[in-house]
Amino acid sequence: MNILMVAAECVPFIKTGGLADVVGTLPKYLKQQGHDVRIIIPKYRLIDGAKYNLQALPYKLSVFVGKEQENFRIKTCMLDGNIPVYFIENLRYFNRLGVYGDDSGVGYGDNRERFIFFSKAAIEATKALMFRPDIIHCHDWHTGLIPAYLKTTNLNDGFFWNTSTVYTIHNIAFQGSYDAASTVPLAGFSWEDYKSDKLEFYNTFNYMKAGLAYTDIISTVSPTYAKEIQGPAGKGMEVVLQTRKNDVYGILNGIDYSYWNPKDDKNLVANFSSENYENKKLCKKYLQEKCGFKQDENAFMLGCVSRFDMQKGFDLIMDTIGKLTQFNIQIVVLGSGDRYIKDGMLYLQSLYKDKLSVCTDYNEPLSHQIYAGVDAFLMPSKFEPCGLSQIIALAYGTIPIVNKTGGLADTISDFSTSNTKGNGFVFDLYKGEKFLDCILRAYDIYKNKFLWNEVMKNAFASEYSWTNSVKEYENMYTIAVKRKTAYNIYQKNI
Ligand code: ADP
Repeated sequence: MNILMVAAECVPFIKTGGLADVVGTLPKYLKQQGHDVRIIIPKYRLIDGAKYNLQALPYKLSVFVGKEQENFRIKTCMLDGNIPVYFIENLRYFNRLGVYGDDSGVGYGDNRERFIFFSKAAIEATKALMFRPDIIHCHDWHTGLIPAYLKTTNLNDGFFWNTSTVYTIHNIAFQGSYDAASTVPLAGFSWEDYKSDKLEFYNTFNYMKAGLAYTDIISTVSPTYAKEIQGPAGKGMEVVLQTRKNDVYGILNGIDYSYWNPKDDKNLVANFSSENYENKKLCKKYLQEKCGFKQDENAFMLGCVSRFDMQKGFDLIMDTIGKLTQFNIQIVVLGSGDRYIKDGMLYLQSLYKDKLSVCTDYNEPLSHQIYAGVDAFLMPSKFEPCGLSQIIALAYGTIPIVNKTGGLADTISDFSTSNTKGNGFVFDLYKGEKFLDCILRAYDIYKNKFLWNEVMKNAFASEYSWTNSVKEYENMYTIAVKRKTAYNIYQKNI
């Protein structure tokens, strides 16, 4: 199959969260199954053209955003595994210091225009490249307009005659909702398409709704989240998803175990493996030193690597930190995003310097050192579509402490002392006291070296690789292609 991924992020070029990991990793596994996979993302200023040896292709293309003609160029390079990546370069929209907004977490005022432009440019670039996709796989609200364009403005475009679309929700909280009166003409749609079963969403123009209404198949990143978003967790989109319930798939993300591997992770002071993890202690010692903590092997060290966003349970974390300081517990937090969370965490650090270390930037090497060095990983998310951090933590023998929601419920099971099964600690009511109880339960087990060793063994044995998920993606793509073929035959015959 010819598969085109279109997204706003992709590792290793640009990443603000798990979306980038998925877009940069899934294609490698699809390629191994024999598919021709390509990726289109924006060329942000943050992407270092020299580092990735980006080559400009000889096309000069343009699209309209409202009445404004926007020119763009395509640059390209190969992602390991021989996957072509195409970068849409336009200085007005992508030559800025941030990806979606400035570093205080406020989005750019013209994100609406930026992703109209990107969606249209991706369609035009595909044609210029003469790459006829069987599947265009769109990710999150930024690319929700693509399925809509293919079934409206580009409906009679023969180039996409055999193209089906798959739309993946990585986080239903971000939908791209805008005023309809100005957005419908700006995006180039007809008012005919602004109906309740198409573009309209509670009197607004909503990019995610556009994707969900027009795409052939919908997926999200875990089976539990697929069910949850058809109910109260759907952030208003539940009704749309219920009407398409037979087209909704939940496929768990995996991680790239060749990258997240304590055995040869170059960011660590010492390497270790699931067979011999003695050196994990050295990683802990190093991290304690780096954080300015007492170097105490027995201290229960907790870590958190996360976007600063209320979704991730920072109200519970902030509520709990003070209560933990009476125990031999140390906490290291790495995060960036929301300014209020950042200020709150820094304030707590000023109160509990010897117990809490907060780093407020995006720091890939430090994230590896935290996954490897701490004993347990805090992820009390209010909701979690899939979550990669808890899966990465498992790979480093670090025990996740999680709220039972979405992908966390699908990947982490509560440790039981009676049968020593379970790879983490789970609480199932989003409340500070439940989270605190759960941490203290883990702390008790930690003090029993035999039992903690059992949890660690279970963590190391939990594997969430792409090898299984890629088969589910292939099945889903096959269904999308069959549907399109049947639709085309029907169209020919009427
Ligand atoms: P989400 O996509 O909602 O942000 P995930 O758990 O799916 O959450 O993915 C988060 C990814 O981003 C993980 O790979 C995590 O290590 C990484 N990450 C998040 N914040 C930071 C940060 N400040 N520095 C480095 N890596 C980070």
